Amino acid sequence: MKINVSHIPAEGMKLQLSRDAKWLSDLCPPQEKIDFIFHGADISCFLRKISETVYVEGNTITTVDLECCRCLDVTTHILRTDFKYTFAPSENHAAEEMELSVEDLEVSYYDNDIIDLDQMIFEQIALQIPMKALCADSCKGLCPHCGINLNSAKCTCNSEFVDERLAVLKKLKVKH
Ligand SMILES: [Zn+2]
Ligand SMILES: [Zn+2]
Repeated sequence: MKINVSHIPAEGMKLQLSRDAKWLSDLCPPQEKIDFIFHGADISCFLRKISETVYVEGNTITTVDLECCRCLDVTTHILRTDFKYTFAPSENHAAEEMELSVEDLEVSYYDNDIIDLDQMIFEQIALQIPMKALCADSCKGLCPHCGINLNSAKCTCNSEFVDERLAVLKKLKVKH
């Protein structure tokens, strides 16, 4: 969705948006590997314009399927996040680059009075996806010997799920 900055009223503008799986596959370049299944996102945000600068504040609720990094089961996750964006016209960009501060790094630039909200929404969704997802904090993972899913079955390998940190401790004890 593209917003014309000149159409943002003085009192600001509230937006409710929904994005579905087709939207993501249209937006995302095919060469980019996506390791999650996107079901959709609901975005609500408020746009405020002060002079030429546009401030966007809002939140997203994203529904994705993610593979558990311990047991490899795929489960549905609902991710919620708040976000803030600042958009400034790109004409002033060169001058501002002379003195970059931390706040400036948070600024995006727009051309010809047009802000592309879909790019912003895409960034928000990408940022929310955890690097290592868990189906549950208590996930027991797979048996390192036979590969059985220890959440739903027991095996006869006689090896309990051992926390990696504990395994290191056990090795240290052997040395002494
Ligand atoms: Zn798991
Ligand atoms: Zn086993």
